[in-house]
Amino acid sequence: TNADGTYNVTLIPGDGIGPEISRSVKEIYDAAKVPIKWEEVSVTPILVDGVSTIPADAIASIKKNTIALKGPLATPIGKGHVSLNLTLRRTFNLYANVRPCRSIEGYKTAYDNVDTVLIRENTEGEYSGIEHEVVDGVVQSIKLITHNASSRVARYAFEYARANKRPHVTAVHKAPIMKMSDGMFLRACRELAPEYPDIKYDEDLLDRVCLRIVQNPAPYSDRVMVMPNLYGDILSDMCAGLIGGLGLTPSGNIGKDASIFEAVHGSAPDIEGKNLANPTALLLSSLMMLRHMQLTDKADLIEKAVLSTIAEGTRTRDLGGKASTQQFTDEILKKL
Ligand code: NAD
Repeated sequence: TNADGTYNVTLIPGDGIGPEISRSVKEIYDAAKVPIKWEEVSVTPILVDGVSTIPADAIASIKKNTIALKGPLATPIGKGHVSLNLTLRRTFNLYANVRPCRSIEGYKTAYDNVDTVLIRENTEGEYSGIEHEVVDGVVQSIKLITHNASSRVARYAFEYARANKRPHVTAVHKAPIMKMSDGMFLRACRELAPEYPDIKYDEDLLDRVCLRIVQNPAPYSDRVMVMPNLYGDILSDMCAGLIGGLGLTPSGNIGKDASIFEAVHGSAPDIEGKNLANPTALLLSSLMMLRHMQLTDKADLIEKAVLSTIAEGTRTRDLGGKASTQQFTDEILKKL
């Protein structure tokens, strides 16, 4: 906190539509008088000894502030480029990826009562990047599960459940097949459950959860699902599909050394610079950030303004509307 009661937060506008949707967030935060000072940094990769990497001042800013809001980053295709998202995840040990999906009133989808929260282990599992060719024509890819990382993400899930009044944690797994790896993940969850007597704990198979959520999402609205990396990647996109897709889904990457909040979508190069992007996903991500910082009143205020704007029919093109990014933003500003 600064002497005047404000908080410094790192802002990475990002690529493609990133600067447009970031501008919208900044205008809305000014109007809502959120006590945040944005420290804007670029993470456009620079070459150090022939290897592309994130500029040191961007890393330093996130280290110092420990909270960042991030626009989408385009991953250049070609040799020598490491995904910047992966670099950030590793640098700051962002071990839990939180993805809530809630139906947006006024935007009709198959169900109007979706309210899921999924927490994905973010550092290992099938994403360990350990692959090799055993012999010609035979490739092995290693799914790495550690008790440490499993326990860390499970602890976060129980704490999140308690703090957000969702009194039920379900560990999602394939332990009948992945006996040792998913078995270890489940063991880590089970060990913690007795520390949270106020939270109901159970386990369910990934395939069965997929089937059940698409048939009836209602039973998932009081719980938090926690799972290994790949399962979370896929299941969270399925949940996003239930509420209407990428323009609406926020996420938070919670870490040991910092937390970074971002929309699930990418840089949308096809609509870059055209004033067409929907800023809602980045806005909702920023509201997760405010709640993480316990600035709940401001989060509630902005959320109401955003959701009622959509409900009353001012929508960007991806939601079937005609509003530009700026018109949509202006409508929210009017309500604030
Ligand atoms: P994308 O999410 O950028 O776009 C997919 C489609 O959804 C496009 O038609 C796009 O116009 C639309 N869309 C996405 N966000 C929108 C929004 N806010 N408003 C309106 N429409 C929206 O996915 P992609 O095209 O596969 O990827 C483009 C680039 O983004 C790639 O370089 C990729 O690596 C990167 N990417 C980054 C992140 C991240 O930084 N977290 C995530 C995914 C993809």
